[in-house]
Amino acid sequence: MKRKTLSLLLLSFTAVLAVGCTSNKSASDASDKKEAKTESTTHAKKSEHIDYDDQEEWEFSAGKMQSPIDIVTKKAEVMTPDTGTITIDYGKDITKAENNGHSIQITDGGTSVINGRNFTLSQFHFHAESEHTVDGKHYPIEAHFVNTAQDGRIAVIGVFFKEGIENKGFQEVLDDVNNDKNDPITDLNDMIPSNRSYYHYLGSLTTPPLNENVEWYVMKEPVEVSSAQIEEFKKLYSHNNREVQPLNDRSILEHDE
Ligand SMILES: [Zn+2]
Repeated sequence: MKRKTLSLLLLSFTAVLAVGCTSNKSASDASDKKEAKTESTTHAKKSEHIDYDDQEEWEFSAGKMQSPIDIVTKKAEVMTPDTGTITIDYGKDITKAENNGHSIQITDGGTSVINGRNFTLSQFHFHAESEHTVDGKHYPIEAHFVNTAQDGRIAVIGVFFKEGIENKGFQEVLDDVNNDKNDPITDLNDMIPSNRSYYHYLGSLTTPPLNENVEWYVMKEPVEVSSAQIEEFKKLYSHNNREVQPLNDRSILEHDE
């Protein structure tokens, strides 16, 4: 294993030395490991070609870190060092539940501490079916709690809803929207699992403009809502979920409580 790594390293080094913008053919024949060589060649060429006098021509690479994704649980890596505790202190009297045409959106104050950093809850909303899937499987509903830090960083806490007993907090949201009211939502914590184990990865907003570098914390444990509540939400929205996106080079991490 070690030997292979070393020879690959040497190989890359040779390729980088040998191949630049003015690549020469005899040098590239030096190896029979074609794949590794091609990779190194591409890297070498790219870095050689950065032209600082023509910065408008630089290619902007985006779109490789999109959300949602399918969470393949057996591929999740344990976070190390694992200090990823989430503490949530969302407001108790949330008002302003509104149907924004895409989803029910609730504006609120409230704070959270995610992995040692401070965030403010800016809004939360719901999708049906769930946007993230776990080993290919959708849940009926997924809530997104959008948290923003002072420097503008966005961290979204995703919570799956599964069919079970009625959820008081979710009913307050549905009642507000159905009756066009702004009654306080007092049971917000019903919509967040008490166990804060999660999957974490870097992704994007799931609605345009699809900004990347959004931190995702998808709770492992779902909360329950009744089948009547699922139907009620689906009357307002069905299929307001974006399709899962390719993982590409990203890792999915996990934190267990
Ligand atoms: Zn969302």
